[in-house]
Amino acid sequence: MLAFPCDICERSLCERQQLIALALGYDEDTFCPHCLAQKQGIDLDTMLQSVVTYIHSRDCFKKPWVALANEACPLLTLNQPCLCKPLMDTPAESVVL
Ligand SMILES: [Zn+2]
Ligand SMILES: [Zn+2]
Repeated sequence: MLAFPCDICERSLCERQQLIALALGYDEDTFCPHCLAQKQGIDLDTMLQSVVTYIHSRDCFKKPWVALANEACPLLTLNQPCLCKPLMDTPAESVVL
């Protein structure tokens, strides 16, 4: 299910991307991971690594995250690029269930 577009670039966010924003504390505004990394002044890969590690350390984020792992990303289904792809390929170290 697609929900809100990013407040900055208006890119559509899938649920996994929304969860990333939530995990980073953005629960009122909606930002895509690209814009979040830019806001924080770090590169996207670094941010994703640390946020995925954080998500796995918190049950309240880990549960929905793990549940999403079984769902096809709606963006990828529409042949649109999405971070889900690299995230799903993230090495086991940060994807310990
Ligand atoms: Zn954005
Ligand atoms: Zn996605």
